[in-house]
Amino acid sequence: MRLSEHDRFWGYVVKGPAPDDCWLWTGAVSDDGYGRFWTKPVGGRQRAVRPQRYAFEEVTGAALSSTTLLLHACDVPLCVHADADPERSHVSPGTHRDNMLDRAQKGRHRNGWTADRYRGLPREERVRQSRELRDAVRTHGWDTDLIRRALNGIGPDQPTLW
Ligand SMILES: [Zn+2]
Repeated sequence: MRLSEHDRFWGYVVKGPAPDDCWLWTGAVSDDGYGRFWTKPVGGRQRAVRPQRYAFEEVTGAALSSTTLLLHACDVPLCVHADADPERSHVSPGTHRDNMLDRAQKGRHRNGWTADRYRGLPREERVRQSRELRDAVRTHGWDTDLIRRALNGIGPDQPTLW
């Protein structure tokens, strides 16, 4: 039996156990540190989409225009945790951003640990972290310690950040 596109997509997503946890993409990661999902429309051409956009459109039923940016309140490029309620969604079209950042800083997101860690990272470093995170989740499922380590790039000679 061929999986539907919907099932294929969500088969790549590992959701954290708590309602506010990230939902992490474990499929392809592109060289910008974000995921890629290949859609295969019947009779159409294959198309690569960003998983967070796909998730957002599926979950909210809203269509994003190609110029609308989808921003991560949790700062985890692989997160696809979309919710029709902007208060709960980790990804949101630009206008909600300030509100969401503010909320993340107040610690309402369990995953506030990543705030500002991805921002300002060199591109190669971000890609490396995304792939490391993807591989960890793919191999071990949701493991909070492993996820923290991957997100913070903690090596033996680096101090823990909290
Ligand atoms: Zn998230």
